[in-house]
Amino acid sequence: MDRWGLELVRVGAVAPALIRRLRDDLAVCLAHPVWVADFELAPADAFSRDRRQYSAVTILNMLQDPPLTMPHRRVGVTDVDLFLPVFAHVLGSAQLQGQVGVASFHRLRPEFLDDRPNPQVLRLRILKEVLHELGHTFGLVHCQVPWCAMSASLLPEHVDLKDPSFCESCCGRLDVPRDGILSFFLKGDQP
Ligand SMILES: [Zn+2]
Ligand SMILES: [Zn+2]
Repeated sequence: MDRWGLELVRVGAVAPALIRRLRDDLAVCLAHPVWVADFELAPADAFSRDRRQYSAVTILNMLQDPPLTMPHRRVGVTDVDLFLPVFAHVLGSAQLQGQVGVASFHRLRPEFLDDRPNPQVLRLRILKEVLHELGHTFGLVHCQVPWCAMSASLLPEHVDLKDPSFCESCCGRLDVPRDGILSFFLKGDQP
């Protein structure tokens, strides 16, 4: 596999500190280049008046422009609430075996469920959600290993059960080292 990189795109307002730390965390976990795009997308065109949410499908389409050279991947990061036609809400979505994905932290904030705000909890959840959508772009489907980032999660509580890394099988498909999580927790800036 050619060496791939991951481009993060802000979709709507995303705090600069949040996206920078996400970029750094992903680079450690993946051991691949990760950068933030120099443009941002406005999610307004994806808004559904009926659902009062934003269409993940529309945002995935928006993320394909401008074109990005393969084998690089692009994942949008957003604070807006996403839906798919068959789901009341989703934490993210991606093209299976494609190039783009989107991850929302709207429902990942602890305060969404009336917990106290906790930046470190949010940090880990976003990291895992982006890893998950990235995996889909490489053709990975939901994994049966409960701690693997590719296991399914519709709720933040499910995200908390996963590690910010992939199981051996998923790692092989992505060409990422299995010690990503170790590097993440040992790099000093601990969550
Ligand atoms: Zn999934
Ligand atoms: Zn797995």
